Amino acid sequence: MTMETKIKQIVRDVNDFPKPGIVFKDITPILKDAVLCGEITTALAMQLSAVKIDVVAGIESRGFLFGMALANLLNVPFVPIRKAGKLPHKTIQQSYDLEYGSATLEVHEDAILPGQHVLIHDDLLATGGTVVAASKLIQKLDAVVAGYSFIIALGFLNGKDRLKAFSENNFALAS
Ligand code: IMP
Repeated sequence: MTMETKIKQIVRDVNDFPKPGIVFKDITPILKDAVLCGEITTALAMQLSAVKIDVVAGIESRGFLFGMALANLLNVPFVPIRKAGKLPHKTIQQSYDLEYGSATLEVHEDAILPGQHVLIHDDLLATGGTVVAASKLIQKLDAVVAGYSFIIALGFLNGKDRLKAFSENNFALAS
């Protein structure tokens, strides 16, 4: 069975979450399968074998799960990108538009050094708004967006197109 098939079989579609009309991909069943978690981490790393990566940045909160595992396997630092008000030390911010209203992401200003190549990881790519904001944070720190890795990239929302302005390296295990 391919990795994509395994992921599609185990991820749960939840209708009308968090709002009516939305079909939410629930990745938590993956976390109960220790063997699959290891296989996913290895597969993410293999997709990135040609990419120079100094740091993995994971996006709150599901991007922390495999982001940290990936950083560990690649033997590079992990940096959390969090929602506003969660990080204790000095941060820089980037706001982005949501369907209704806006949201803000933050990173510690000393977490990433100028010139470092930063791989952005999240569980799922939808419109791309979240990782575009994360990319802007990385650029504000004069670092380089090395690429993107996702467990799932939803094809129909064109999120991938928005990321090309930052990096051509865009990988997902399933769509
Ligand atoms: P985007 O900014 O529209 O690309 O949305 C991606 C962000 O929303 C990621 O941080 C995801 O964790 C979260 N997200 C959106 N839809 C889903 C879903 O169906 N399952 C899990 N996370 C989702």
